[in-house]
Amino acid sequence: MSKRDYYDVLGVSKDASQAEIKKAYRKMAIKYHPDKNPNDKEAEEKFKEAAEAYEVLSNPEKRAKYDQFGHAGVGGGAAGGGFSGGGMSMEDIFSHFGDIFGGHFSFGGSSFGGGSYGGGSGRRRMRKGSNLRVRVKLTLSEMAHGVEKKIKIKKYVPCPACHGTGAEPGTQPTTCPTCHGTGQVTRVTNTFLGQMQTSSTCPQCGGEGEIITKKCTTCHGDGIVKSEEVVTINIPAGVNDGMQLSLSGKGNAAPRGGIPGDLIVLIEEIPHPSLKRDGNNLLYDLYVSFPDAALGTTVEIPTVDGKARVKLPAGTQGGKVLRLKGKGLPDVNGYGKGDLLVNVNIWTPRNLTHEEKRILEKLKDSPNFKPNPTSKDRSYFDRMREFFS
Ligand SMILES: [Zn+2]
Ligand SMILES: [Zn+2]
Repeated sequence: MSKRDYYDVLGVSKDASQAEIKKAYRKMAIKYHPDKNPNDKEAEEKFKEAAEAYEVLSNPEKRAKYDQFGHAGVGGGAAGGGFSGGGMSMEDIFSHFGDIFGGHFSFGGSSFGGGSYGGGSGRRRMRKGSNLRVRVKLTLSEMAHGVEKKIKIKKYVPCPACHGTGAEPGTQPTTCPTCHGTGQVTRVTNTFLGQMQTSSTCPQCGGEGEIITKKCTTCHGDGIVKSEEVVTINIPAGVNDGMQLSLSGKGNAAPRGGIPGDLIVLIEEIPHPSLKRDGNNLLYDLYVSFPDAALGTTVEIPTVDGKARVKLPAGTQGGKVLRLKGKGLPDVNGYGKGDLLVNVNIWTPRNLTHEEKRILEKLKDSPNFKPNPTSKDRSYFDRMREFFS
């Protein structure tokens, strides 16, 4: 669908002055104002079209571009140039009105505010309960396998006496006489441009559209009471410390039958005595004696599920990293499993007896004890690059 010429839209000539353009736009804005034309899609389109034309023609720079290049020069209505014609929101349009109507015009509490525009009865305010936050502490094993936790939380629940309506049992909320249930009041204002209608939140019912004549004595009309509830939280495998899970609708109930808030679960890791976590990998520092490293041995490595036995070959160097494939944690999104990385440290004795000293002195000059690194004994820095890049 091709766009109409902006001058045609406002009904002005190509050499119209700024004052003429402004005046023409005022006329259009009043004629097609949505409050004057409720549920009239065509009027709404015209209203937006006029706003778009005014946006361009009232700006000398944009107008010059438009005169030269047409719609393409000002973004063409598609995404571009920070101005997308058809996408102008009602708020954008109303932001011009201070300019157009000299700042005397108020759209106080404009019903176009919270995205409820065009909704008819949808203008009635829906209350939302507040979100609740809880911390859940998990062991590495629980994080590795996922776990079901039952947690007792204090929260607002719908009042059992009035079932959340806030009205004394046996009575009914009545339709608000001021707004007749719409939650909005319309005010007609006489301006020098003619009559304008403005909508704002009904002051009597606060936008709810209903009035409670006899308040429930249990909840004092709020429709909610404090209570304790046991919530079952299914924690998936692979969660991380600091991760948040959001349980929609498990938070505080809303006053008088609105939408309940969410329950936000913050995951905390209970530190493992010897395993550290790095993403989905686990890190373990192994200490072996010099004779074990030289002669070879079998060691036990802690994992999230008990222990793993690992063979260390004779001649294992300190700083070697063993990778136990798949012994890490599962990815929370199901992309495989991490590994358990074992960093081998050779324990150097801090104290020696005379006898021990004597033996070491004897071995000291043996050629096999002289460091003789080959290209296989890559430096610590090279290995770090490989494992953590
Ligand atoms: Zn109640
Ligand atoms: Zn009302």
